[in-house]
Amino acid sequence: MFALVDVNNMYVSCERVFRPALVGRPVVVLSNNDGNCIARSNEAKDLGITMAQPWFQVRHLEREAGLIALSANFELYGDMSSRMMSLVGRYAPRQEVYSIDESFLDFDGVRGRLADIGRDMRATVLRWTGLPTSVGFGPTKTLAKLANHIAKMADRKPGTYAPDLAQVCHLGEMTAAQRDTLFAATEVGSVWGIGRRMTARLNDGGIRTVSDLLRADLAMLRRQFSVVLEKTVLELKGTPCLGIDDEPPAQQQIMCSRSFGAPATDLESLTDLVSQFTARVAEKLRHQHATAGAVHVFIGTSPFRQNDRQHSPGVTQPMRRPTDDTRALIGAAVSALRGMYRPGFNYVKAGVMLVDLQPKGQQQGELDLFSSANEAEPIARSRDPSPLMATVDALNRKFGRGAIGIGSLAHQVGGGAHAGKRERRSPRYTTRLGEIPVATA
Ligand SMILES: [Mg+2]
Repeated sequence: MFALVDVNNMYVSCERVFRPALVGRPVVVLSNNDGNCIARSNEAKDLGITMAQPWFQVRHLEREAGLIALSANFELYGDMSSRMMSLVGRYAPRQEVYSIDESFLDFDGVRGRLADIGRDMRATVLRWTGLPTSVGFGPTKTLAKLANHIAKMADRKPGTYAPDLAQVCHLGEMTAAQRDTLFAATEVGSVWGIGRRMTARLNDGGIRTVSDLLRADLAMLRRQFSVVLEKTVLELKGTPCLGIDDEPPAQQQIMCSRSFGAPATDLESLTDLVSQFTARVAEKLRHQHATAGAVHVFIGTSPFRQNDRQHSPGVTQPMRRPTDDTRALIGAAVSALRGMYRPGFNYVKAGVMLVDLQPKGQQQGELDLFSSANEAEPIARSRDPSPLMATVDALNRKFGRGAIGIGSLAHQVGGGAHAGKRERRSPRYTTRLGEIPVATA
């Protein structure tokens, strides 16, 4: 059985942990240079603010509706993310960190009532980090993701689903009839990997709900849409097609992570791995004609090696300006790694995730990296990668991945890794001594 654990409105929730006065108020978090809204509290969503909406379009709501806008504080979000991830990772033998605020857990072989375990996990994350999460269980990753969506909506909009599904929803323990009722009330666009354009095409063909999709002819879906959609339907029917660490059906975020069999203890081997992963995600980034405003790097020990001391940090390193250049991204990633690495630990996993994506050559219109909308939007192809990076990509396509790479990785340290100007940024409460919150009696 799989679970998907996801933080509700991650960036806003991180801000609220340290500024409880923001609870219950409409809050948005703005992208690089305060351009667009990249996170919205439920109250901000209720004001009609859409994902990635430019700030100037909604600015009037500051006066009219008490809207509060904050500059993105990726250093804070990255640190809160790694705290949340390491807590959640203790609950199941295998964890796949899927985005900055989501991870899949594989509960195979775990005893006990999973819904109860899910509620305990949710309460523990809330108590220890202050972050509210939603937990969905299902026999496949696609069902776990859908269960998570139902748990979130039942909590946020009472009336959409039964109240006992709020916060934690376990599709695996329901009867077929109970599931059917839920699926008939769930739009097909809520399914993992079904984006806006495919939803429109499915709707045109009379497929509006998840039930409609499950009744459709598989061969027709494969013919008219794709093998990927066919797999999605099989997963919805309970046949696993995706294991832990398998690529998601739609490439909506750019991340590369791996668990390694033999632990890595020295900085050099971790630097190699992190550099490789960064080269990999940078290539994906250029393929999508996008740039990244920050790089998130994490490493971790295994909670299941009982005699090992535990250390599972993550650091988000902002770029001076958004880039798609492998060299600058590796510089930032390695600098993040050096800052958090401690000798004497058996690290068994590492990952690199690109954050704050935006279409290349555009000041505004960031991609919505972490929403659950699963949208692979067309991206403006206004500027191509530099000739050097284009050549690197072409050679790797022709001769195989890793045919050509960036040498002397360690010399890249510090290249371009500085935060841009962010006027409304909150303090980096958890990572800078000088910005730690002060409690007064
Ligand atoms: Mg989330």
